[in-house]
Amino acid sequence: MRLVIVGAGIMGVTLATLARELNPELDITVIERLSGPAMSNSGVFNNAGTGHEANCELNYTPVDEEEIAVDKALHIHAQFNIAKQFWAYLVKQGIIEDPASFIHATKHCTLVAEDSIELLRLRYQEMSKHHFFDTMSFSDDHEEIKSWIPYTMENRPRSERMAATKIEGGTDVNYQAVTEEMARYLSRNNVNVELNTHVKRAHKSPTGTWLVEAIKDGNAVQYKADKLFVGAGGGAFPLLKKSHLPCRSRFAGFPVGGRFLVAEIDEEAAKYYNAKTYGKAKVGAPPMSVPHLDLRAANGRHYLLFGPFATFMPVLEKGRGFVEYVRSMRFHDVPNLLNVALEHFPLVKYLVSETFKGKESMFVELENFAPGIRQKFEWNIVQAGQRVQIIKDGDLQMGTEIVISEDQSYGTLLGASPGASVSPEVMLRCLEKMIPGMFESEDVQQKLSGIFVTTDLEQLMNDPEVYRKAKSFANNLLKI
Ligand SMILES: Cc1cc2nc3c(=O)[nH]c(=O)nc-3n(C[C@H](O)[C@H](O)[C@H](O)COP(=O)(O)OP(=O)(O)OC[C@H]3O[C@@H](n4cnc5c(N)ncnc54)[C@H](O)[C@@H]3O)c2cc1C
Repeated sequence: MRLVIVGAGIMGVTLATLARELNPELDITVIERLSGPAMSNSGVFNNAGTGHEANCELNYTPVDEEEIAVDKALHIHAQFNIAKQFWAYLVKQGIIEDPASFIHATKHCTLVAEDSIELLRLRYQEMSKHHFFDTMSFSDDHEEIKSWIPYTMENRPRSERMAATKIEGGTDVNYQAVTEEMARYLSRNNVNVELNTHVKRAHKSPTGTWLVEAIKDGNAVQYKADKLFVGAGGGAFPLLKKSHLPCRSRFAGFPVGGRFLVAEIDEEAAKYYNAKTYGKAKVGAPPMSVPHLDLRAANGRHYLLFGPFATFMPVLEKGRGFVEYVRSMRFHDVPNLLNVALEHFPLVKYLVSETFKGKESMFVELENFAPGIRQKFEWNIVQAGQRVQIIKDGDLQMGTEIVISEDQSYGTLLGASPGASVSPEVMLRCLEKMIPGMFESEDVQQKLSGIFVTTDLEQLMNDPEVYRKAKSFANNLLKI
């Protein structure tokens, strides 16, 4: 069976690696338009590198009339546990030599001001009841919070009431590094990784085979696929539109860009502030615009990253042009886009105003978050990746959706959240849906149990013993 994957970001490369490990007989090709893997959204500073497991992100625990919903937080935490199990397997197999090349333990904290202290307390009380979050601490004591996340508190007047939660066992992940390691492994193991190859269109031939048309070094090339997965970030939308699949007209893309402030710091500063601290999103801001100050590690160096500052950039991916975005749309998308613009006018207004925010205004936000930090380091603005949110049947959605054709021969991933953190779990489900027959074989089931302690999200949520076993298996191998 020929499996063709468009996009060598973390999603496409993870799907290829899982497929390769479960069934070495598959004929796998990965096609990437850029000169290397993980150069778009999975690139190290194109995202924030948070191992999202709901330790610190308020948007995963929505509040409705004093009731706090934790279901989404539990789901994401379980998904991230599966990601860690998969990465641990890569280390165990020697596919990745040194886990420190891509993953580091760091505190995950939430910091809020006076108006949200009670909300944070409620979140803490609800979450810490569950075995996923039973190591969470809460404090509204200035000195204690300062000892957890010094940069955010050391120059803040004591009169400002703040509260924070902390989980020691969070992570910072270099998604580019882990993707590159997997791609190298694939190239060494009979997987055809085609770089500098831009897929223009894929259509189904009368025999049921997908014909993938691409341009490589200025020449037209074609690939044949029995199963085609498009994990092309924002680039997945135009390919879906051209696929002739009946569902294509239900989806359109709503692009949201981002910028970060980044400063390189020395080892001592990195030891002093070993945390990712998430705050509260501004009114009208999309959920992914929660401000956060993160310690990042990349290529043996340390950085502080603050942001994101959202931007309204009508492009499919960072580095691609406006014309490509416009061309990706069809006439039937126009009413849906107008509907979203009207229904979500505060969001559009917010994005436009953020787009024109200058460095000084960005510093004002940084200083509100961590008073005095501006002067300590040299900050640069970095253009981050591009999230293309889903407009489905005229409604704007903030999540991710796997779309699989009725005959299971075409699969694609649309949307953006919660992203790279959950890639192994999402790609495993995708593989199960696209090649269900493969999972019926005993051999594949055996291989699966050699990779994962469990892939059952409910079991992780409901069985503390299994969860702890899976967590310690992964954490030991990942040295976190
Ligand atoms: C500002 C920001 C912050 C984020 N922070 C986090 C975070 O802290 N934690 C987290 O887990 N996630 C985060 N994310 C999300 C995360 O970056 C993405 O979910 C993840 O990188 C998506 O991987 P992907 O493989 O789908 O996409 P990408 O990495 O974008 O890969 C898609 C690939 O497809 C290629 N491609 C596109 N079109 C074509 C074509 N026609 N032909 C051939 N190749 C093509 C592209 O060149 C690219 O290499 C963040 C995202 C953004 C934008």
